Amino acid sequence: MPAAKAIVGGQIIDGTGAEPIRNGLVLIDGERIAYVGREDARRIPPGAVRIDAAGASVLPGLMDAHVHISLNAPSDLVADLTGRSIGRIAFDVAANLRDTVAAGVTTIRTVSDVAHLDIAARDAIRRGVAVGPRIVPCGKGLTTTGGHGQLLPCWLCMSHGEISDVVDGVDAVRKAVRRQIQAGAHWIKVFQTGGVIDPEGRIDAEEFTPSEFDAAVETAHIAGLPVAVHAHNRPGILRSIRAGCRSIEHGMHFDEECAAEAAQRGAYYVPTLTVMDRIIRHGAQAGLPAYMIDNVRQRTSKHHEYVKAAFDAGVGIACGTDAGSLLTPHGSAGREVVHFVDCGLTPVQAIATATRTTARMLKIDEETGSLEAGKRADIIVVDGDAVANPRALEVASNMRQVLVNGRVVAERGRIVNGI
Ligand SMILES: [Zn+2]
Repeated sequence: MPAAKAIVGGQIIDGTGAEPIRNGLVLIDGERIAYVGREDARRIPPGAVRIDAAGASVLPGLMDAHVHISLNAPSDLVADLTGRSIGRIAFDVAANLRDTVAAGVTTIRTVSDVAHLDIAARDAIRRGVAVGPRIVPCGKGLTTTGGHGQLLPCWLCMSHGEISDVVDGVDAVRKAVRRQIQAGAHWIKVFQTGGVIDPEGRIDAEEFTPSEFDAAVETAHIAGLPVAVHAHNRPGILRSIRAGCRSIEHGMHFDEECAAEAAQRGAYYVPTLTVMDRIIRHGAQAGLPAYMIDNVRQRTSKHHEYVKAAFDAGVGIACGTDAGSLLTPHGSAGREVVHFVDCGLTPVQAIATATRTTARMLKIDEETGSLEAGKRADIIVVDGDAVANPRALEVASNMRQVLVNGRVVAERGRIVNGI
């Protein structure tokens, strides 16, 4: 059981969207938060470890609900997958987990990874043999032959080396969902439309047939698992929302009608603004094909407008960066917060989005995602005023402390209490 701790003197941004508390106090008893409020020396138990937060902001740990923990943010995804052995990838996963948590990201959802390494990582962290964030895993996503989630060309397909389960036909789809459940997945990921890395306008096409798609969703739902859908175009987004899927990933055409349907049915929108920005900003220099950069550039300003309109329509916006995918480093959730502000959310709203709203989507909000007594102590202490300057959240070395379950696991971008 970790020792009692008192985080003293910082500005508390509790993740609920409430106004910050200056000169705050957070008390931690073991793995959980015991008190959040104004500083009050009488409340601090004798012998508590003091964490000085003067000049800093105290927030719930950030969440990233769209991560590929087995990918290394390359410019060439095929080379990333084929140039490393599975053993090497597994060790890289351990490093990526450390980078993630050191950057203040205390929870991730993985949305397609090689060889179920995301599930193995979750279990290794639980067993205490690896350091990293809380993980809500999808295992391998489902994709069709030649679909967006099949990164390797057919002549290179190795079942263990692909991030997706490549399946066609209703029965094969059902079986693939069950394979993920058997492996320990908590969500099911389905690639339903093309994406920005696909040529020839495939971003505007759907991939699974309606009966295949419905079979995937039904098989997941009957087992009690929510479904996350990679969907860019309106038909794919609307199909997913109407089928009861819980999260729409990317959604660059998430227009008014999509927002109205999502608000009504309680679907969440994970716009992954970070990966899009990385492609525009660094794609040419990294040698990405021009069509990929154009795919993003043509859609990006509308994408930002859709995020704000969906937020205003009452849709739950969740934080996901596509970390690990093209040019997007692990531990990028702070960047996504800044993009939410660029879309027109206030910094307090953007932080609440990346903490409590994302926790709600993941159905872990009773345990974590906000600073409230009784919740797990997943907390970051960040230099400066994160409301006046949300960019402070982008830099791992600004993280004075990162706590998971009441333990300090990182300081200034470095793992402490490591294994
Ligand atoms: Zn992705």
